[in-house]
Amino acid sequence: MHEHDQAGSADVLIIGAGIAGLSLATALGRQGFRVFVIDGASRPEAPKPGKELQDWDLRVSALTPASIAFLAEIGVWRDASTHRAAPYDCMRVWDASGSGSIVFDAGEADASSLGHIVENREILKALLQCAQALPCVELCWGHALETMSSAGSGWLATCSTGREFHTALAIGADGAQSKARQLLGMPTREWSYAQTAIVATVGLAHGHAATCWQVFLESGPLAMLPLADPLKVAIVWSLDDAAHRQIAALSDEAFVDALNRAIGPTGPVSEAVGSRASFPLSQRHALEYCDESFALVADAAHNIHPLAGQGINLGLSDVAVLTQELVAARDGGLALSSSVPLRRYQRRRKTENLAMMAAMEGFKRGFGTLNPLTVLGRNLGLNVVDRQGWLKRWFMRQAIS
Ligand SMILES: Cc1cc2nc3c(=O)[nH]c(=O)nc-3n(C[C@H](O)[C@H](O)[C@H](O)COP(=O)(O)OP(=O)(O)OC[C@H]3O[C@@H](n4cnc5c(N)ncnc54)[C@H](O)[C@@H]3O)c2cc1C
Repeated sequence: MHEHDQAGSADVLIIGAGIAGLSLATALGRQGFRVFVIDGASRPEAPKPGKELQDWDLRVSALTPASIAFLAEIGVWRDASTHRAAPYDCMRVWDASGSGSIVFDAGEADASSLGHIVENREILKALLQCAQALPCVELCWGHALETMSSAGSGWLATCSTGREFHTALAIGADGAQSKARQLLGMPTREWSYAQTAIVATVGLAHGHAATCWQVFLESGPLAMLPLADPLKVAIVWSLDDAAHRQIAALSDEAFVDALNRAIGPTGPVSEAVGSRASFPLSQRHALEYCDESFALVADAAHNIHPLAGQGINLGLSDVAVLTQELVAARDGGLALSSSVPLRRYQRRRKTENLAMMAAMEGFKRGFGTLNPLTVLGRNLGLNVVDRQGWLKRWFMRQAIS
């Protein structure tokens, strides 16, 4: 460690070294800010070679072209093969209880791909390489935030290890249960979906053809996402809690049968499943993203249903905008503790995050019912969008930008 002084002071303290925290540290570090990043967990495991199903990370992200452009801009992303990433150029979405379906094709959006599916461990590995190469960034693993108090025009934070950090600005990137948000008493609006998502790596009988599949079932959406190995996909199967209890209890063989029944003949045939993990789903939105010399980013500020795979994409947009505003404020001669860049960041990001959350809520409600009129409406809706070139291109632009 490098340019921070002995007493533990720097410009910015980032709480949480997930994808959001590490990308913010990298973006700010490249701009010359002195940054501490603390995380209560130990350093993440390196990705494994990937021959067996168990070697693949259960958590994957569908990175949009806009997210990839930002990661490239901060020196993190090189190309798909470097990051064991799977580009996908087609997305098929359909309704299991009707005849509605829609196909998104990269060609129709004049794009080379709709995005890339990447294991979270791969993204973290690339971020870590960049962040730790920056002399003005210090990463502190095993340091869980415990207290925060204002000190002068900044913050004094203490950790589980007893170490203290003194910075002008603090950023909460500590995920959905953000301790920083709680310590500052920042209120949220939240509700449970009464659904739990099962994630797993699945082996296929035939290649995935660089396609994402998503079927809306009565019990919740099931997505199959292509991995860098053409015979493997990652699944995100969101299930109402009662259905989740049944499916989660199945043996591997019975689980694969249930998966094949659920995806039906439109989707790929599964042959084997690796280990599975479950995540309860909820929607949460902080009423304010910033306080005095403090801001929330990514999941600490907002969580949405994974059905559109947008969670980390919204988080990376937060990081990009916050970085722009902090750099502009510094270049304009404002103090780091100034509220101006934080207010501007909040204004620019809140509207977009809320719009995406409202759209996901509409999807979730529209598909979480067997009401015949709603079923008819959503099938008509999917088919109409599929047939109307301009409308479909509009939807695709929302998904990839
Ligand atoms: C089932 C499922 C599937 C998903 N699929 C997708 C997808 O396809 N595409 C997509 O874009 N998004 C997806 N998401 C959402 C995505 O995973 C999240 O948006 C993303 O991981 C959030 O990143 P983050 O860095 O904000 O938070 P996190 O990844 O939660 O990182 C927070 C970090 O803070 C640390 N921390 C917590 N408390 C403290 C503390 N007190 N002190 C210090 N450190 C602390 C944690 O150890 C952690 O490292 C999915 C989510 C779920 C549940």
